[in-house]
Amino acid sequence: MIKIEQIYKSFGSNEVLKGIDATFAPGKVSLIIGGSGSGKSTLLKCMVGLHEPDKGRVLFDGKDFSKLSFEDRIPIRKEIGMLFQNSALFDSMTVEQNIIFSLDMFTEMSKSEKLDRANFCLERVNLKGRNKLYPSELSGGMKKRVGIARAIAMSPKYLFCDEPNSGLDPETSILIDELILELTEEYNATTIVVTHDMNSVMGIGEYILYLYKGQKFWEGSNQDMMRSDVKELNNFVFASPLMKRAKETM
Ligand code: ADP
Ligand code: MG
Repeated sequence: MIKIEQIYKSFGSNEVLKGIDATFAPGKVSLIIGGSGSGKSTLLKCMVGLHEPDKGRVLFDGKDFSKLSFEDRIPIRKEIGMLFQNSALFDSMTVEQNIIFSLDMFTEMSKSEKLDRANFCLERVNLKGRNKLYPSELSGGMKKRVGIARAIAMSPKYLFCDEPNSGLDPETSILIDELILELTEEYNATTIVVTHDMNSVMGIGEYILYLYKGQKFWEGSNQDMMRSDVKELNNFVFASPLMKRAKETM
């Protein structure tokens, strides 16, 4: 479980996060939604320590990450898998090297153990045998899957995904969502996905946190969301004609 309490983050005079509280349950995929620039990625980065929040606490199963020194964060870091926006693969490394990267950094595994693990992860994301390809040789969907394979290499207890569907066709998006859901259940991971893809929201949105103007404006399930009368949320959700239609036929 991950708990965040009163997270504040500003960049200069730009107050991006203004006191966010939330609890993310294990074995579940929680979604963070909100308009472009609403602070979704910033919140995710504050949780994993890529940004230091100005105020507030981030608790990983009760351990206050924000208070820990660099050294003391390492055990928690090892349990975090992250899929970055745009996959962020190392272009000069093969698929296999990308996956083995964190195993090199964080484990004492032998070369053959690391290779076994990489193969296992590749198989898990349906990319068996693609070890020696370079990112430039992969499609967008394949890059995401390599990103996921890299994120799960360390069997993470906490999985963070920033816009896993951006740039993907709807069919591939659904496959990626299903994969994230399956892996979450498999590892009983606490998974947090930033998205603005309404297909994802309707497909896997059991718990949704809506960010608006730096605050948690609303939270609930996709079913609650369809019935909500919060204007700001509705403006966001039903901007899409498809979602509008879905509501009308409810
Ligand atoms: P989202 O992911 O919801 O689109 P972001 O969290 O990326 O939004 O950005 C929220 C706001 O914070 C934006 O106004 C953005 O310009 C600003 N911001 C994000 N990262 C930085 C940074 N490293 N330095 C300065 N401003 C930033
Ligand atoms: Mg973002």
